[in-house]
Amino acid sequence: MSASPSPQRGVVLVADDDPVMRLLMLEMLQQVGLDGIEAEDGRLALQLARERRPDLILMDVEMPHLDGFAACRAIRRGDGPGASVPIVMVTGGDDIEAVTSAYEAGATDFVSKPINWPILGHRVLYVLRASDAIARLRIADAQNRAVLAAIPDTFFRMNRDGFYLDYEPGRGFPSRERDGAVPFTSERCVGRHITEVLPREIAARVMEQLSEVLRTQQIRSLEYELLRFGAAQHFEARLVATSPSEVLGLVRDISERKRSEEQIRRLAYCDSLTGIPNRQAFLETLERELQRSKVGNKKFAVLFMDLDAFKRINDTLGHNVGDHLLKIVSERLRETIRPSDLVSRSEALPDEAGTIEPATSATNLARLGGDEFTILIPDLERVEHALNVAHRVKEAMRRPFLIDGNEIFVTASIGISLFPEDGDDCNSLLKFADTAMYHAKNCGKNNAKLYSSSLTMQIMSHVKLEVGLRKALQNDELYLLYQPQLDVRSLEIVGVEALVRWRHPERGIISPTEFIPLAEETGLIVPIGEWVLRTACDQARAWQRALHRSVRMAVNLSAKQFKDENLSQIVLSALDETGLDPKLLELELTEGTLMDDAKATLATLEQLRRIGVHLSIDDFGTGYSSMNYLKRFDVRALKIDRSFICGLPQDSENAAITRAIIAMAHGLKMAVVAEGVETDEQLILLEQYGCDLVQGYFLGHPSSADVITDMLGRLPMMLPAP
Ligand code: C2E
Ligand code: MG
Ligand code: MG
Repeated sequence: MSASPSPQRGVVLVADDDPVMRLLMLEMLQQVGLDGIEAEDGRLALQLARERRPDLILMDVEMPHLDGFAACRAIRRGDGPGASVPIVMVTGGDDIEAVTSAYEAGATDFVSKPINWPILGHRVLYVLRASDAIARLRIADAQNRAVLAAIPDTFFRMNRDGFYLDYEPGRGFPSRERDGAVPFTSERCVGRHITEVLPREIAARVMEQLSEVLRTQQIRSLEYELLRFGAAQHFEARLVATSPSEVLGLVRDISERKRSEEQIRRLAYCDSLTGIPNRQAFLETLERELQRSKVGNKKFAVLFMDLDAFKRINDTLGHNVGDHLLKIVSERLRETIRPSDLVSRSEALPDEAGTIEPATSATNLARLGGDEFTILIPDLERVEHALNVAHRVKEAMRRPFLIDGNEIFVTASIGISLFPEDGDDCNSLLKFADTAMYHAKNCGKNNAKLYSSSLTMQIMSHVKLEVGLRKALQNDELYLLYQPQLDVRSLEIVGVEALVRWRHPERGIISPTEFIPLAEETGLIVPIGEWVLRTACDQARAWQRALHRSVRMAVNLSAKQFKDENLSQIVLSALDETGLDPKLLELELTEGTLMDDAKATLATLEQLRRIGVHLSIDDFGTGYSSMNYLKRFDVRALKIDRSFICGLPQDSENAAITRAIIAMAHGLKMAVVAEGVETDEQLILLEQYGCDLVQGYFLGHPSSADVITDMLGRLPMMLPAP
């Protein structure tokens, strides 16, 4: 088979027993630039066809030895190049039978006698060209088949109406029936319409792409999933137009790729510690929810939860316990949101692929990192609904966590942002929920707060307040009040607690609960604390001089101050400058401050002990502390938090707690101060419990130094009769 048109002149074998005919034929061929060789009978024709490999054979039907048909058949039978040489039979007149026999014998074409001599040469040229084209096609076809056989894909041809014209299953595609599933084979597909072979929905998608391919003449691909042989198999079909009305399709089994993609997806979207979705997954869920809510005109909420004091648990009990805690927290969160209406509402959320996800709310929960968790509440009808969820979450965290024999108590602070009220993009919504969470923490932890425009206003005023606070010291806007502490047995005022106030030029008196956290955040607490300390020491020393009596001065220290490496230096110079006896100064710390970093704490406490000042634990019972630590810290007194006292005497639970704290403190040789005593009944009860000191509105509000001077000058107060 000569594929390319030969650069030299073509050679035609002329087989005819009539020498005149041969002569004329050779002449005509010469005219159109072809060379000829002659054979005078069929046998010679066969021999020359094999030996000389002509480009075409003109074969007479009737010849001695071997007639034209037999010679033709013999040439075709061989498997050499001769098998495809074009053979033009020269038949008699209108001998239809001869024509039919010629084709049956494998002839390419025929010319009938009498021969139209002028056009014979052209006819031969035409057949040569056609056969050349066919030869080239055959090569291309063979090459295509070789390529297709080398790739693992299935390929098919399909016409514009969706009928398979050809179907060749790829290597690796199942070829035998298994588990009741019939494999796709050529017999099953060719001649059939696609809807008879593939499920309707997939067939429709293929047809849609097919008409696009025919319209644009560009390659298109689609992926689909089939449940085959008991498992979901994924396929990718690529369609390419081969003519205006036909496409070639290549189908590849991409199940393996899908499996690894799914694995990667799982790794990339799953928090490895807790197994719940991670930040990335949450952001994507949020983005989908945002689009869905925008289209459907719906509302949703983002809850941002952060455990209070998680760092302390990590530091004191170790990271293993911390990790364990996070796992249980995520389980509780999952349980908390499962039975709610979140589940049923998120049921019908379609995923990216457009398929309906099974009912689960797990995707609405995520761990962003550390001890931060987020929950998405879709289809929010009322804000209260989000607050209810926050409440349930808080309640779920309140139950003690039992880890390695430790009973751990944690609380959570929660911030909530709302779509569309608070923002209309994911980042803002997440940021605002985070801001609201910080706000919740500032409001005393274990709290849930909504981010609302009013919160923004608050932040604005926060900024203004900060600017003001920076000037407060220079402008003499800070001053101290003192609240008396009474010895329950002698009924004498033995000490006072210094409480700072800010007289704001526009806003009036501002409470320390508002500006101390701000001072802490900005670091202003250090100069403010130093001023408080010196002023308080100065006042105590003044009373000592004027009244000839020792009044113990309690000064609050915030965590930031306690961590300040110059603390002992500041305390020393306040004492030095004022000449106050260190024994008369008591520093109040909260449990949280002490437990934050036990090692550093011990070093600081040792320095303070050496100076000779006393320590007490403020707001005792609201934080987290271990008795062992308190023993080591050499604490003089525990101040029972106001929240335990305020319900007394009716609240039997708080009464029991108060009694227990007093007994325990006495066991450790510590004194007990009850804060927030507002009634005589409370005072009597505390006296019965053996409480040492009391402080509260019943005995005196925080007051100016002058008022306290008067009180100190008076006789011990009388305890009301029980
Ligand atoms: P704290 O040290 O626990 O102070 C006791 C708070 O309870 C004071 O609030 C006091 O006015 C209030 N209080 C006293 N008796 C009663 C009562 O019978 N009933 C009620 N309902 N409340 C009572 P204040 O003065 O607003 O101080 C709040 C907190 O601010 C203090 O809590 C303390 O933690 C902090 N603070 C106050 N002054 C300073 C300071 O100079 N430096 C630092 N670092 N913190 C301070
Ligand atoms: Mg205090
Ligand atoms: Mg207190």
